[in-house]
Amino acid sequence: MALLSISEPGQSPKRSQAKKYALGIDLGTTNSLVASASADGPCVITDQDGAALLPSVVAYLGKDKPEPVLVGEPALKHAEHISSVKRLMGRGASDIKHKLSYTLVEPETGGMPLIETQAGLKSPVEVSAEILKVLAARGKSYLGKELGKEVDKECDGEIDGIVLTVPAYFDEAQRQATKDAARIAGLKVLRLLSEPTAAAVAYGLDKKLEGNVIIFDLGGGTFDVSLMRLEKGVFEVLATGGDTALGGDDFDRAIMRWVQEESKVEPKQEQIAELSSIAREAKHTLSNKDAVELNFSGWSGILSRENYYQLVDPLIELTLKACRRVLRDAAMKVDEITDVVMVGGSTRSPRVQEKVERFFQRPLLNELDPDQVVALGAAIQADILVGNKYDSDLLLLDVNPLSLGIETMGSLVEKIIPRNTTIPVSRAQEFTTFKDGQTVMSLHVLQGERELVEDCRSLAKFELRGIPPMVAGAAVIRVSFQVDADGLLSVAAEEKSSGVKSSIVVKPSFGLEEKEIESMIKASHREAEHDRDLRRLKENEVDALRIIEAIDSALAQDAELLDTSELKALQQSLSALQETLKSGDADLIQQHSEALNELSATFAARRMDSQIKSAFTGKTLDEVDR
Ligand code: ADP
Ligand code: MG
Repeated sequence: MALLSISEPGQSPKRSQAKKYALGIDLGTTNSLVASASADGPCVITDQDGAALLPSVVAYLGKDKPEPVLVGEPALKHAEHISSVKRLMGRGASDIKHKLSYTLVEPETGGMPLIETQAGLKSPVEVSAEILKVLAARGKSYLGKELGKEVDKECDGEIDGIVLTVPAYFDEAQRQATKDAARIAGLKVLRLLSEPTAAAVAYGLDKKLEGNVIIFDLGGGTFDVSLMRLEKGVFEVLATGGDTALGGDDFDRAIMRWVQEESKVEPKQEQIAELSSIAREAKHTLSNKDAVELNFSGWSGILSRENYYQLVDPLIELTLKACRRVLRDAAMKVDEITDVVMVGGSTRSPRVQEKVERFFQRPLLNELDPDQVVALGAAIQADILVGNKYDSDLLLLDVNPLSLGIETMGSLVEKIIPRNTTIPVSRAQEFTTFKDGQTVMSLHVLQGERELVEDCRSLAKFELRGIPPMVAGAAVIRVSFQVDADGLLSVAAEEKSSGVKSSIVVKPSFGLEEKEIESMIKASHREAEHDRDLRRLKENEVDALRIIEAIDSALAQDAELLDTSELKALQQSLSALQETLKSGDADLIQQHSEALNELSATFAARRMDSQIKSAFTGKTLDEVDR
């Protein structure tokens, strides 16, 4: 008899909810990682070789190659690779001031510069999407294999969503570009989370921190410092600061300049990548040793720790300056800080640790791998957001990193949402007309801390039309700003007496047009199809070769088992298959393989019979029985 589940009136019977699959992704300037949170806690997902870090590097080899796009370690080995693409996300050509090992092309229509590759011009968003695809594939295969076993629902490779991290400093355009990259990679973004917040999530859960915590994140390309208050599982960001153009890459460049000065060798364009990796290796060595020998283009020299510190101390000083500013923003003194969390590969440098420790006058927290902290936190957050019960009391409060405002008379910026306001948030302010009978009002949305329009970043312009003619100053125009949980902004304006309205979802100046995103998504699907087709062709070719070889060798041994017409038919079918192998047509190869297979079935059966017979020949029945 079946058991009935009985529930009290007003209560719905409890059903076990299907586990949802979510990933946390740290899309770093230098390295990217993917992590997953299971019942046992979060873990970083490694590749087949056990590597957790995926270098954020992409190489396009061209469409005709079996592997048209390389990502990570294989891309690094390729001479023409694209690195640090995160620095280009949502930026205009004029924002990019450092030397690149690849060529940028400014599109006629304005917007993000495009990168010259073997496969044509690529947007930084598309390049990031390639990195995300590899991480997602890694995540999918892990979820399918590992978690699929634990839960009733098989993970069929579908991911319910991801949490993607961005530097706290990222502005609208950069956030939007990051989200677009995920869309192109076919991923659903549950939330963009700022990297320091993710780090706090990882540490807060493991250590149950309480108090005022500094998250000091010095990676390869970005520096982020955040001051957070942790209390009873609530993380609140009090202030953020940092620099989108400061990180370990700058340490590398300082060493490169030193080599250049000492060796008097002016590196050629094609030597820059080599010199940069020599510099990086030297830097890593100096984290453990007192001196390192460098060899470049026939020159060699010794860089001592002392000399190295002279090169990088000014850079470390910049990070401390940003720390001072964050403390000032939050009106907090150094001695009110209870903990300092170290995040990012560059915090492995003893000099960085020494200086930060001295600045904050307390021991640093660095038990978790500084490379992994952000991805682990993102995975925990992703798991909560898809509705798995991991730690449901956890509440996350994030802030908008830069002030948002509107242009007023005299090219001044009126701030509507100040920086470090907790998001999601909506704020409104009232404005009025300036001329008698004015029926149109232009609205110019800006982001930044400065007072003058020209010093802030222009986000969008739109107009409110149809204001009833009134004397100057009589109309009441309410402008409201709304920032969602991802930090994305929409602005609306309404004239109150008439109710005329206008609104805009802010399309960042260096974002992509919807059309462009669509076409990139399509191109990405086409590529996936192309890859799939190519794989199928390869598999069919291998199958065909296997069959040909088997039949060839069978004919060499046992051709006499066939009569002339059978032999002829088989040979014909065999050469037909050999011929189609050159065609590159997967279907045709499969058809001919199947035909040959079928035709050879009788032959195979006869060979089997004859082998059994020959095994029996010359043996007594007794022997056969045994
Ligand atoms: P991002 O967040 O920008 O992707 P990561 O957190 O992965 O960067 O940090 C990468 C940076 O850390 C690189 O500049 C790398 O050279 C640096 N790094 C890694 N290990 C060490 C080390 N042992 N000593 C000094 N720097 C290191
Ligand atoms: Mg990082």
